[in-house]
Amino acid sequence: MTIKPFLEVKEFLDYDAVLTATCPMCHKKFDITVNRTDLAQWRQGKLAQEAFPYLTPPVREQLITGTCGSCFDELFKNFE
Ligand SMILES: [Zn+2]
Repeated sequence: MTIKPFLEVKEFLDYDAVLTATCPMCHKKFDITVNRTDLAQWRQGKLAQEAFPYLTPPVREQLITGTCGSCFDELFKNFE
């Protein structure tokens, strides 16, 4: 199931969903586990930081833009 072009659901567990995010810059794949209820609320428009308070900001960034932590750092570095 595809959520966004760079984000798909790999598998559903009892309470959690394992998502696979593909970084649009380095094309590496990252698995992100979130609560299924939180995922549903996020897809209905809840903000990522409210839906997934337990994820670190770089991981939330991957849900929003797909950019992984190291590419995000790289981007940021280039703006200096
Ligand atoms: Zn990357």
